[in-house]
Amino acid sequence: MEKTLAIIKPNAIANAEEIEKMIIKDGFTIVQRRRVLLSKEQAMEFYAEHRDKPFFSDLINFMTSGPVLAMVLSKDRAVRAWRRLLGPTSVAAAIKKHPDSIRARFGSSDTENAAHGSDSAESAEREIRFFFPDVTLYPILSGMEARDFVDD
Ligand code: GDP
Ligand code: MG
Repeated sequence: MEKTLAIIKPNAIANAEEIEKMIIKDGFTIVQRRRVLLSKEQAMEFYAEHRDKPFFSDLINFMTSGPVLAMVLSKDRAVRAWRRLLGPTSVAAAIKKHPDSIRARFGSSDTENAAHGSDSAESAEREIRFFFPDVTLYPILSGMEARDFVDD
């Protein structure tokens, strides 16, 4: 199963439950979730590819204005499927062309477009590692095995 990174952005955190319902209904498995407040440095690193864009400082201020919910989503062709459910980057375009999409329903402006999705499998791998650097395949099981071994 392919994995992708989803982020519920600060303006849509109040709608996180409803968005998670849409994610489940669309057939994704939420395999990891973590609510974090990004520092400016972390947001700038995450969005480094946009550092020379005119909207960069607005984007960084917005993404650090409150907590975000990062999630690893799993599904067949998850990257493409999540971008489709997300809708276009522009909220105006989303409302016009894809009114049922997450950005159409919960986006409030070009910057505050409710959620993020990785744009390729390569980006997904990098972005998942950015938010979940400590996560291995079976972290709890290996922890229990280690403890059981010591207790014996
Ligand atoms: P995404 O992959 O669909 O999120 O779009 P991009 O990677 O191109 O841009 C990253 C984020 O920057 C977007 O999700 C928006 O929050 C913001 N952004 C992108 N383009 C614009 C723009 O033209 N104006 C403004 N204000 N924000 C933008
Ligand atoms: Mg992008």
